[in-house]
Amino acid sequence: MKFKLKDSVRIREENEDKIILFDTETELLHEVNGIGYDIIKLCNGKNTKKDIENILISEFKEIKQDDIKNDITNFIRQLELNNLIEIIPVEIADKIYLYGSELGSFTYYIDDDKKILIDAGVLVKKPIDMIIVTHCHFDHILFLNELKKMNGCEIICGEKDKRDIEELTEKVMVNLSPKNIVPTKVDTVVKNGDVIKTNNFTFSILETPGHTDGSISVYDKHKSILFSGDAWFGGDNQGKWIYLSGSEKQSKDTLNILKKINPKCIFPGHWGIIISNRNYRIQ
Ligand SMILES: [Zn+2]
Repeated sequence: MKFKLKDSVRIREENEDKIILFDTETELLHEVNGIGYDIIKLCNGKNTKKDIENILISEFKEIKQDDIKNDITNFIRQLELNNLIEIIPVEIADKIYLYGSELGSFTYYIDDDKKILIDAGVLVKKPIDMIIVTHCHFDHILFLNELKKMNGCEIICGEKDKRDIEELTEKVMVNLSPKNIVPTKVDTVVKNGDVIKTNNFTFSILETPGHTDGSISVYDKHKSILFSGDAWFGGDNQGKWIYLSGSEKQSKDTLNILKKINPKCIFPGHWGIIISNRNYRIQ
């Protein structure tokens, strides 16, 4: 049986990239709303949308434009940690849930006999047996420590990103992240061809270096689904080379290999999902 998108998922085809910059307070709020009215309505009963807006306005009034996004991240992370908000996932396919984080990175939850999280950009409030970290960047490990503590789950990553996750090296780019991100011990290092089986999925690990040199992707050949991390961004946003490991050439080589595999569904770490080579945003 091939992958099918849930009928209930509302998607729109992508025409252009919409990257919102924060020039004014109004735009700042717009972006927060863009990150998700869901986030704001989560504060139901404790904080109204207006309350959150007021907090943000007073919180960020004096902050430099360049710092705003990071501080929003920190602010929302604190709301998550204090249980004032909870990111609500979208079931995008049978047993597959997508959480859009406040940083825009995607976290996926596989709700099978084994509960698997792919990346940890959100404080997921469901049982977790295993977290597969696609790479060491801060927006993918934001809640790794908290989730491990809550669930006692196994943490898995590619060999060349292990030390970075455990020691929060400069590769993690913590300078761009909330200050209180916590280093976490990795339990298992995986390599090309390692298989993780659940009742309904057979996930193969692909080493997909380039974005970072230890980047991995998770591939179910039978279902033709690829969780690509940042090895293949949604919306063809391959971006400018700014990273502290990997290389642009390696990244392009990896992308060519993944394009040859040609998965029907690609669930990336950012921006949108790709189905049959078309880009979609989850609404
Ligand atoms: Zn990344």
